[in-house]
Amino acid sequence: MMNVRVSIFHIHNSPHTTRPRAVVIGSEAPRRLRRTVKKNTHIWMRPPRNWSALETLNYAQELNRHGGTSHLPSWGQTNITSMLAPQADRVMTLGEWEDRWQENRIGFHQSHVHKMLENNFDKVLAGRTGVRFFFPLCGKAVDMKWLADMGHSVVGVEISEKAIQQFFEENNMTYIEEPVPAIPGAKVYKSSEKNISLYQCDLYNFSSSIEGQFGAIWDRGSLVAINPKDREKYAALIISLMASDCRYLLDTLLYNPELYKGPPFFVPDEQVTRLFGERCDIELLQSVDAMTDRQRAWGLDYLTETVHLISPKSN
Ligand code: SAH
Repeated sequence: MMNVRVSIFHIHNSPHTTRPRAVVIGSEAPRRLRRTVKKNTHIWMRPPRNWSALETLNYAQELNRHGGTSHLPSWGQTNITSMLAPQADRVMTLGEWEDRWQENRIGFHQSHVHKMLENNFDKVLAGRTGVRFFFPLCGKAVDMKWLADMGHSVVGVEISEKAIQQFFEENNMTYIEEPVPAIPGAKVYKSSEKNISLYQCDLYNFSSSIEGQFGAIWDRGSLVAINPKDREKYAALIISLMASDCRYLLDTLLYNPELYKGPPFFVPDEQVTRLFGERCDIELLQSVDAMTDRQRAWGLDYLTETVHLISPKSN
């Protein structure tokens, strides 16, 4: 039996254009729609540029009628609030994050440099050397060492002390530990060999008064990890940390939020535009199928990982 599933998204390549796109997942799409989808693959359908959202929706529904069930009705709208509703009230406390580290439930950690950072690195650097990178919610991302080895400097923020200590230990670095007078209860861990400073505190206690502004930000597992209700507050903080030449690489995930409660949470492109579009230029750099057995086990039927490059509007 054919099993075609379609979701509609809108992408904003620039603040002025909205181009509908649909995702098709399944075995085989109808032939007369001239698209063959191999079993268990996931492809992007890009409807012609001049199609309206409604035309795209009709097209998607027609694909859908050829088999399988679909979550299309709730997704066919551009109504962002309804898209976000399934996860809107989800909260992970700082204590729950710390427990995850204590119990070693850190499936998000990758032992290699993140592909989306590597692939888009030239665009982040834009020819610059010795860039100051900010890592909100840094965990023990090995990307921090990779950057420092290339002569960049890194400031990270992370609530889990264990994560920070593991970062230094696993990368064979020694560190010194200091209090941060401006943030009660916080500590900063500084590498003795590399230009890496990791602040152990709640991200929302961090500000540009601590370390100034940054030339680049790598946001992976951060906007998608904070509680959905805090996104506006988070965006305001990130914008305040951007130097005028800042290049902010933002990694987000698209999936059906009715199937998994998160984190990581679902962040549609529309919301990226809403959060940053007024103050920043936003460019969609890359969108890939990121489905693995891990997400299949969460109950997801597809997962798309997207990176946007965000930079302050010049004026
Ligand atoms: N960016 C890292 C970690 C992602 S998981 C990576 O890609 O591997 C999110 C991390 O944020 C966890 O390590 C968690 O402990 C931390 N965290 C969550 N909320 C936080 C907050 N409000 N302030 C500081 N750290 C937080």
